[in-house]
Amino acid sequence: AEEIGGGDKEVVREYFNNNGFERWKKIYGETDDVNRVQLDIRIGHSKTVENVIKILTDEGPLNGVMGCDAGGGTGCLAILLAKKGVIVTAIDISSAMVAETENQAREELLTGKEELSPAPVLPKFEVKDLESLEGKYNTVVCLDVFDTLPPKTLYYDLLKRVGELFPGPSKATWAYLHAEADVERALSKVGWRIRKRGLITTQF
Ligand code: SAM
Repeated sequence: AEEIGGGDKEVVREYFNNNGFERWKKIYGETDDVNRVQLDIRIGHSKTVENVIKILTDEGPLNGVMGCDAGGGTGCLAILLAKKGVIVTAIDISSAMVAETENQAREELLTGKEELSPAPVLPKFEVKDLESLEGKYNTVVCLDVFDTLPPKTLYYDLLKRVGELFPGPSKATWAYLHAEADVERALSKVGWRIRKRGLITTQF
């Protein structure tokens, strides 16, 4: 977050309220109108979400845990956590993403489509960026926000540039890619320690 200041943050907000919103909503959704790369990202993402749930449940029961999904996008994880009894706060810089999360959450958690016991608590939704996040939580998840996956490698940079050469808005992912080492350095600067590490791979 330190590196994204002023104008850059506006660009991020603008992107995730418009093209980025459409693109990621499609990728994280269930419709068939995705290309091979997008389908691969969808599969990788759902494996990642499963993995996050496993990491959290390994720590103990989720019921009643205070959790924050920071940069939660369209709410895939936030809704799943709420179904498992987590009291969720879902924040995102993009108001479009937050509105989508709220719609989905109301539909999935309040309409009784699934019988959930105990009855889930509707998450709290807030449009705000990571730097303004406040409050006390047992756990804060920030998934696919720094875009460290795939790792920043020469190969991926090249692939991304090749993608950008082709016309059409949805070919290249507009994203900042942060190298894993940079993320680690930023975390250790504020006193955080890496306890678990994992790599989720798909075809691309
Ligand atoms: N975490 C969600 C998931 O895994 O399903 C969404 C991932 S999506 C690729 C990245 C999300 O991060 C977008 O919804 C975007 O609006 C949000 N985001 C990017 N920069 C942010 C910031 N500085 N503060 C809050 N949210 C941010």
